[in-house]
This record gives sequence, structure tokens and C-alpha cells, in this order.
Amino acid sequence: MNKVFLCKEIAKGETRVALNPADAKKLIELGYELSVQSGAGAVAGYKDSEYESAGASLVKTLKDGYAFADIIIRINKPDSVAGIKENTLHVSSLDVFNETGLVQDFAKANVKAVSLEMMPRSTIAQKMDIQSSQASLAGYYAVILASSRIPKIFPMMMTPSGTIPPVSIFIIGVGVAGLQAIATAKRLGARVSAFDTRPVVEEEVKSLGAKFVKIDLGETGQTEQGYAKELTPEQIEIQRKAQAKVCASSNVVITTAKVFGRKAPLLLTKEMISQMKSGSIIIDMAVKTGGNVEGSDPERDVVLENGVTIIGGDSLERFVAKDATDMFSGNILAFLSHFWNKEAKSFNLDTEDEIISGCLITANGEVVNSRVKQVLGNA
Ligand code: NAD
Repeated sequence: MNKVFLCKEIAKGETRVALNPADAKKLIELGYELSVQSGAGAVAGYKDSEYESAGASLVKTLKDGYAFADIIIRINKPDSVAGIKENTLHVSSLDVFNETGLVQDFAKANVKAVSLEMMPRSTIAQKMDIQSSQASLAGYYAVILASSRIPKIFPMMMTPSGTIPPVSIFIIGVGVAGLQAIATAKRLGARVSAFDTRPVVEEEVKSLGAKFVKIDLGETGQTEQGYAKELTPEQIEIQRKAQAKVCASSNVVITTAKVFGRKAPLLLTKEMISQMKSGSIIIDMAVKTGGNVEGSDPERDVVLENGVTIIGGDSLERFVAKDATDMFSGNILAFLSHFWNKEAKSFNLDTEDEIISGCLITANGEVVNSRVKQVLGNA
């Protein structure tokens, strides 16, 4: 397995590509052969000729790429598995908990599907973790987006004509995206408050110079992988009540709260939003996985009667296509390099390895991932 095909993305609004020319060169130097679908890097700013200079060949169609490939790489899930040869390794994000039909299709087609968002959260896998690399950029961009939409400046400004107070930002959910959002907002001079259900986060928030909002929810915590545990409906109600005042006094609220493999919790109700000031901005970064904000829409901004705007902030990393591509590409390079077997000149699909067993979803005509099998069993 050493023939890699890089696909052009087809998802609406996608700006990235899974591999940049510099990393293409490194893969080829390692021993992989690379074929690139013509135009794959165009939106991210990479020309076909750059891939050719790196040593890749170009193909026009998916059909030709699939015929060439032992390994297919792309950012988003494919529309269908049609045309992918048996035993091909397909590497992308797959949204496996929602795309159960596609997972079954991969199994039936006897394709080995790797879902990159299932990458284990271990030190060794960190460089392959697309969730971290992309969420950092999305968290940064959420603040930049808010700053461009709010009719105010972020820092405090004292002038002879008067003093402008700093913008107040409340960040709910302080994982990878939330931490980057706090750091960015602080750099721009905002007053920042934040909350997360994982108790370990308090110190991280404080170390960035932000205020941690204390809410007593009883027992919370995190899984072995570092993900938040799901709250009970009663705990969510307590959280909503306690947050309402902070939201009402904030100019910007950014929500990033997710629970891995489950629907995101609804944390801002219409009632809470009705108490916010005119001109305030809410960005719901969990909009695609159920939404933290009542009324948020992934397709459009929602301007409410009280002058508050809700922005559905899905995949905000797409607004920084070059950096997002380079980081995703770094994750792919790390994955393909880590499993390169020099002697066999092949990708080594070592199913005993904890990285592979974590993110390999289908193989040998069946679903092999235990967490996904559980979901399918319950479906
Ligand atoms: P995520 O995207 O699943 O969730 C975002 C945040 O929302 C999390 O911090 C979560 O605790 C929080 N959240 C969930 N429910 C909430 C609620 N009701 N109210 C407020 N907040 C809520 O998480 P993530 O950003 O991917 O990462 C979570 C943790 O995993 C972080 O500590 C991160 O550093 C760690 N991590 C480790 C690795 C690694 O070791 N390889 C890789 C990535 C992330």
C-alpha cells in the first residue's frame, strides 16, 4: 500500500485540501507514490504545478484517482463509496456517529475506512489529531468574526472625548477551540469570562488571564480521552440559570460545548437571549452537532428582534484556508509517516496499534470499531 490519491473536496463551503505540496514532497521522499486530482489545492492557494514539482502525478477525475489508489486521502466524507476498489484504505473525517449508512456502505464495499476524528487522545497521536489542529484555528477565527460583526471595538480606549469600556466576552466550553478563543480575545483587549464542566479547566482559564465562572453542577468530570461527560437535564437547567446573568452582561457569547458522540447540550435558550443587549453577537460553534444556542442555523445568521445576532459558527477554520490546510496536511503526513514500513515500502495497517484500533472503522467487509459497533447495535 503505497499509492496515495489526494481528492478535490466537493463539500459546499469547503476551502481546504488534505495535503499541501510541501508535505506531498515529504511523502514522496519517504516512498509513497502520489496522484492528485487536478484543481484539488486551488481554493487553498496551491496550484497543480506545485504538486507536480513535488513529484506527484495529476489525474482529472475521481474515477482515475480511485483506480490508481491503495490509499485515498480527503478532508470530508465522500458522497458515496462507488468506484472505490476493495481493500483501499480511505482516510478522512467521517462523522461516524451520524453517518451510519455510509459506514455500512464502506463495510459492504470492503474498504478500510479510517475516521480521523476518532483519533485517540494520546501524546503520540496528538500530531495526527485533526480535531485539535482545526479547532484551534476555528476558536481563533470565532473571535475575529465576532470583532468584525459587533458595532464596538474590543479594547478599552481612553480619549479626550470619553472612555470606551472593553467588550465583555463569555466563552462556554473551554476545550481546544475555547482556549484559543480566550487567548485571542485577551490579545484584542476584551474582558473575558469562561465556563466548562470539566473542573481541570479552571486553572487553564485563569492562566490565560480570564475569569472562570463558578457553577456548582454537582458531579461532572471527563472521560479517559479528556472529553466532557454528558450532563443530566437537571444539571443543564442549573447551568442555564447560572449563566443567564453572565450572558445578559456580555457583548459576545461564543459557545463550543460538545459531548463526543452525542448531541451538543442546549445552553442558551430564547429566554436567556432575550435578556441580552442589542448589538450583541452569539457564535454557536456546536451548531452542526445539535447546537448550544436555541434558534442557531448553520446556513445563515439569525438577527433577532432585540438586536442580537446569532451566527452558526460551523467549521470556521475554512475561513483561514491556508493555515487550516497546512495543519490538516501536517496531521495526514504524521499519520502516513508513522505507519510507513521502510522494508516493505508500504503503509503498515497494524490493527494491534492503539491509533489504528481507535480510528479504523471498517475492514474485511465489516465494522470493526467497537464504539461504532455499539452505536450501530443501538441504532
Ligand atoms: P470538545 O470539542 O468535545 O468539547 C469542547 C468543550 O466543551 C470541552 O472542553 C468540554 O468539556 C466542553 N463542554 C461540554 N459540555 C459542556 C457544558 N454543558 N458546558 C460547558 N462546557 C461544556 O472537546 P475538545 O476541545 O476536543 O477537547 C477536550 C479536552 O481534550 C481538552 O482538554 C483538550 O486539551 C484535550 N485534548 C487532548 C488531545 C490529546 O491528548 N491528543 C487532543 C485534543 C484534545
